[in-house]
Amino acid sequence: MITDALSIDVEDYFMASAFEPFVPRSDWDRKECRVLSSTYKILSILDEFETKATFFVLGWVGERRPKLVREIHARGHEVACHGYDHRLIYHQDAGEFRADVRKAKRLLEDACGAPVVGYRAPSFSVVRDTRWALDVLAEEGFLYDASVLPARHARGGMEGAHRFPHQLSRLAEFPMSTVRLFGKTIPFSGGGYFRLFPYPFTRWGIRACHREGNPSIVYLHPWEFDPGQPRLKARWMDRFRHTVNLHKTEEKFRRLLKDFRFGTVRGVLEDCLGRGAGEALAGTSKRRFFSENRLFVE
Ligand SMILES: [Zn+2]
Repeated sequence: MITDALSIDVEDYFMASAFEPFVPRSDWDRKECRVLSSTYKILSILDEFETKATFFVLGWVGERRPKLVREIHARGHEVACHGYDHRLIYHQDAGEFRADVRKAKRLLEDACGAPVVGYRAPSFSVVRDTRWALDVLAEEGFLYDASVLPARHARGGMEGAHRFPHQLSRLAEFPMSTVRLFGKTIPFSGGGYFRLFPYPFTRWGIRACHREGNPSIVYLHPWEFDPGQPRLKARWMDRFRHTVNLHKTEEKFRRLLKDFRFGTVRGVLEDCLGRGAGEALAGTSKRRFFSENRLFVE
């Protein structure tokens, strides 16, 4: 049985990119904090199903809620990094990005007392023009990235990129899961996709990844488990994506945990690529497609 990767991007509802034009970061401290209770809700569901996950925590959240980061680590989950304050990579230069991830990594490591080696960009913002970010991550001590969406997306995405875990020269990459349907590459396994599509589609998608011999990766946010969150101003499409079927997330999530076996992103990558994934294993991987030392299928 293939173990899939489960990931939670720990940010509060108003930090999502959909609200960036309407909620300035200077207002974040004045907003009601809802991320604590919804993250604890996820932690107790995971305990119930004896499942471990990776929590990509925003540095801003870890700075204000170090106890939460400690608790995630103490319950046996992986603490990883979602950047400091949810700035899209293509809105930063390499120096700013380096400062952002360095600060967030240090805050999270101080909070949990363990190395943080995984990174996920806000809103799939590792795109073709920001591939330099992967070098910065390796230089800053990260072993893997889980940011690439190998499909079209409103804010990010990298159409044509590898669809499954693979080793780059300095870093392992776990792209978001997609399925091939009618000649198109379709994301299905997290966020708005997970809430919009009926559960059987997600289940079919994960099984399709398995049929291709690969694990899938599921990503969700604490605010997706909080249907009572205040409704904020946003562009209508963003607002739809953010709020669609919020009341169904928990039930679908429970079905997912019943139907599949999940583990941390790091654990699944190590199973795929060998222990020490991320440390220049190119060419030594177990499977042909993992050993390709390129980001794109040519
Ligand atoms: Zn995010």
